[in-house]
Amino acid sequence: MTQDFNLKSALKQYFGFDSFKGDQEEIINSVLNNNDTFVIMPTGGGKSLTYQLPALITEGTAIVISPLIALMKNQVDSIRGFVDDDSVAHFMNSSLNKGELNRVKQDLRDEKTKILYVAPESLTKQENIEFFKSIKISFVAVDEAHCISEWGHDFRPEYRRIKEMISGIDDRIPVMALTATATPKVQLDIQKNLGMSDANVFKASFNRPNLFYEVRPKIQAEKQIIKFIKENEGKSGIIYCLSRKKVEQIAELLQVNGVKALAYHAGMEAAKRAKYQDMFLMEEVDVIVATIAFGMGIDKPDVRFVMHYDMPKSLEGYYQETGRAGRDGGEGVCLAFYDYKDIEKLEKFTTNKPVAEQEIARALLNEVVAYAETAMSRRKFLLHYFGEEWDEENGEGKNMDDNMVNPKEKVEAKDEIKL
Ligand code: ADP
Ligand code: MG
Repeated sequence: MTQDFNLKSALKQYFGFDSFKGDQEEIINSVLNNNDTFVIMPTGGGKSLTYQLPALITEGTAIVISPLIALMKNQVDSIRGFVDDDSVAHFMNSSLNKGELNRVKQDLRDEKTKILYVAPESLTKQENIEFFKSIKISFVAVDEAHCISEWGHDFRPEYRRIKEMISGIDDRIPVMALTATATPKVQLDIQKNLGMSDANVFKASFNRPNLFYEVRPKIQAEKQIIKFIKENEGKSGIIYCLSRKKVEQIAELLQVNGVKALAYHAGMEAAKRAKYQDMFLMEEVDVIVATIAFGMGIDKPDVRFVMHYDMPKSLEGYYQETGRAGRDGGEGVCLAFYDYKDIEKLEKFTTNKPVAEQEIARALLNEVVAYAETAMSRRKFLLHYFGEEWDEENGEGKNMDDNMVNPKEKVEAKDEIKL
């Protein structure tokens, strides 16, 4: 096959890149050979290209299911930019009026469109299914596929109906699923639900060898934070807190201690948030104290530390948030403060939810507790949670967590409890 050469030149032609990242090429070949394909890769790994490139070079239109209308528009704009053609990519969701929808359908009928982003709600409409039956579909890609699973951090009931819709169009259409959620439970749910047990599975490593993981007892955490920042003056960092109130308190505390810090949470005006985000990117401030509202889509390569003033609700969340440190491969310290009382508080918040949800929330919290209290290498624990075996003796990132640097003695653990 001359496919290799063609793929490389298509990569250059459409995206301007010289080489594939990780398993991108193998993934694309799997899709081009009409296999069901399952891609598990950390955020920023380059998943989009693995459906965009095959979509552009095969016959028919690829349907991409994506949960966020705002992201759809960005993606469509960026593909139109690569290809310099407004018909090559479209989206179909509730934001389109009748006229716009008709134009999209006309381009699809004229075989001008290679990629169509569809919201799951739009896919489930019977008239759209009838329409999709009348055009040639190359494959269906389910982006953010963890939305299928109640064990994922962003469950969407409509996502569970995707398979039924695909079957309604044509059972033979190859399906691709993509996610950055690596837990075996979520993976199994996705494969079961989409009926893709025979899929080619591509799972990238979630190991981040340059990150140092540390968990400390939450005793005078404010003092510890200030000390850490003073010792790391001028470095960029993010401090996560669970409540807006705490965010504001810590930001103020840092400010009175002469640290260039700002608060960031969803209760603030959008304009202010955007401004603060820019100030962080432009290094006019060093530290952002934030709720988890901060960080989505932020790509600052030289964040040197991520702190958790409060433990997060799940290890997925913890991994995503700590993952914002050291993107450039340089130093990245991940420091969390743990107090079992905080976990109890988090558990209380879930008591007004349906029982099934409470149980899941509790199970996720138990994993957070186990991680915080473990004497094992934190990296080993985290990667094991994501279904990945990691070898303490030879693995990348060896001696890059507190438990490896200072192995906990049983005696010490007893002392800790006395505190
Ligand atoms: P994910 O969806 O896995 O989080 P994206 O698809 O958004 O990741 O890609 C992350 C970044 O990597 C994007 O800026 C993208 O342009 C870039 N990228 C993807 N593939 C390549 C490649 N082969 N070479 C260089 N950059 C790439
Ligand atoms: Mg993505």
